[in-house]
Formats: sequence, C-alpha cells, structure tokens
Amino acid sequence: MEVIKEKKKMREWSRAQRKAGESVALVPTMGFLHAGHLSLITEAKQHSTKVVVSIYVNPTQFAPGEDLSTYPRDLEGDLHKLKSLDVDVVFNPYDLYAHNGPEETPDVAKEAGSKKRNLPERWSTAAEQEEKKSQVADLQDSLEENLKPNGGMAVANMHDENKGRHETWIRVERLEKPLCGHNRPIFFRGVVTVVAKLFNIVEPDVAVFGKKDYQQWRVLCRMAQDLDFAVEIIGCPLLREDDGLAMSSRNVRLSDTERQQALSISRSLKEIEALVKMGEVDANLLVKCIIEKITAAGGKVDYAKIVEQDTLREVDKIKVPVVAAVAAHFGSVRLIDNVELQPPS
Ligand code: AMP
Repeated sequence: MEVIKEKKKMREWSRAQRKAGESVALVPTMGFLHAGHLSLITEAKQHSTKVVVSIYVNPTQFAPGEDLSTYPRDLEGDLHKLKSLDVDVVFNPYDLYAHNGPEETPDVAKEAGSKKRNLPERWSTAAEQEEKKSQVADLQDSLEENLKPNGGMAVANMHDENKGRHETWIRVERLEKPLCGHNRPIFFRGVVTVVAKLFNIVEPDVAVFGKKDYQQWRVLCRMAQDLDFAVEIIGCPLLREDDGLAMSSRNVRLSDTERQQALSISRSLKEIEALVKMGEVDANLLVKCIIEKITAAGGKVDYAKIVEQDTLREVDKIKVPVVAAVAAHFGSVRLIDNVELQPPS
C-alpha cells in the first residue's frame, strides 16, 4: 500500500493505472476509520481494480466554532486498517488548498511552518503592506496547523473570501439548503468543492459514499451530474453498531451517558419505520414522535424531517419513497442519522 501526499504524484499514479488498463475507485474520508468506512472500500472493490482511499479533514466544511480542532484523528491506526484491506493507495495530502506551492512539499512546508517567520520569497513583497502582513501570518498559521498529520485547526482565512488563498467554490444551490444546510450554511460548499478537487486530482472512474450522510450523497450525485464529471457515484447502506447507533467517527467523543442518550435517535427512527409499515403516512405525526423521543432522552434536536429521497423536499404524507433524517446534539457532539422509508402498500 502506497501513501501519497502530493497532488501531482497522486494524479500521476492514477493516470499510470488507467493507462495500464486498470480502473480506479476513490473512497473519500476524513479518517478515524470505522466499519462504516471499511464497508465503502469493500463496495469499491466490486467496481474497480484499484482502490484509493483519501484521508483529509477538510477545513472548509467546518464553520468557525465547529469541531474541526477536536475532530478525532488516528492516521497510524487508519493506515493499519487500510493495509489489512489491501487498499492500493492512501491519499493523505498536507493541504488541498495550496496551489503546488511550498505548502505541498514537506521540506519547504517544514521551513514555513517553523516558528521563525522566514517566509518563502514569493510572499516577501506582499508582507510590506499591513493587510498583506496579516494574510501571511494567517497563511503561516494555517501551514503550521496543516503540517500536523492530516491538517489541524481551522484554516480561518479560507472562510473569508477576501483574504483567503482559495476563492472558487461549488454550490449545489437547492439541494444544499435543507436539513444539514439550514444550520451549517457553508458545510456543503466545503464538501462539494473538496470532492470536486479530489475528483480532479485522483480522476477516479468510481467514487463511493455512505448514505449515512444522505444529503451529502445526494448533493454529490447532483454535482457530478451537473458538472459532467465522468465518475460513477455509488451510495452504500448506513452501518450501525450492534445497539443501533449509527457508526460515526464522532461517537468516540460521546460520554457513556451521552452515548446511551444518543440511542434515542436510532430507536425513534426504528419506531417510525414500524409505524409506516403498519400504514401510518402522516409525516408530521412521525416527526413529532422522533423529536419527542430524542428530547425526552436528553438530546437537542437540530432537525427531524421527512423528505422525498431524490429532491429532499419535505412531505406531509408519505406517498413516495422518503427518507426520515435527523440531526441532534448530545453534549457537544452533533450526530446525524436517517432511515429510508417506502410508502405503505
Ligand atoms: P467521513 O469520514 O465521516 O467524512 O465519512 C467518509 C465516508 O464514509 C462518507 O461517504 C460517509 O457517508 C461514509 N460513512 C460514514 N459513516 C458511515 C456509516 N455508519 N455507514 C456507512 N457509511 C458511512
């Protein structure tokens, strides 16, 4: 298994594979891998001869104040798991938002990341002006953070289009707005943009995502279609722990009590699934059930909605295939979960 950190090397590897007649699948992740992630790799192997797993905690999908700095990381453990699954390449870039600049190569990055402000030549003129000075300081801070394995703190200046190094964003205008998009307005902009970048770097034939992040999967399908990416997007079933909790890298941040409380999400979804099977089609009533159960357990519901599977538009009655989607906070941890539902026959 090869670990590649530079965009150029990654693209060269992928092109060489395709030239040799291989097909390439990409499984994008933010690391701290669990069985849910690993199921995507198993699926990827059904669709291609080579599998690339990317591990990159993408700073641009976290708003200031969200959990970028505390997002769990364990590169060594991840590599160990991926090796046992016979993955061909792990793409673990230093900084996906650097344009082949010094940030991308470890040596110069080490220099720029040192506490001494010995900036690379191309930044020195800019540093003479006050505004530019602050940009450079921001850049250095972000470099220092990104030198930590797989990124670190928020690359704050990326959130400010006037100061940031990166100013091109992809928005999936309608699908990104409901559900998670409501309270996380820059989340999908960050996700979609980074996945488009990964598509351009890895040039995969196939990309595999989990339906655990149901809206993300839909948004990415739409992006690939609208922008004519020649990548087949595959959605995989959500994997759960034995007690029903949806597997998530963030679960390790739950206390024992919070973890118990968090079971109310999957239990409420199971309950409404049974109700629908018994003929209940009133979406508002079902949503009320979910909210009551999670709130009673001590969770704070961000949203609970029943939406059409393809359009993500809210429904009053379940007449077409829908998904019941939930986000809720337990302590400082925000969890999401969902269940696909068919209209009762
Ligand atoms: P993340 O590392 O959280 O960004 O997730 C990387 C990929 O793994 C995404 O496509 C997720 O939807 C998928 N994934 C995460 N958790 C699960 C799960 N419990 N079951 C299936 N896929 C998952």
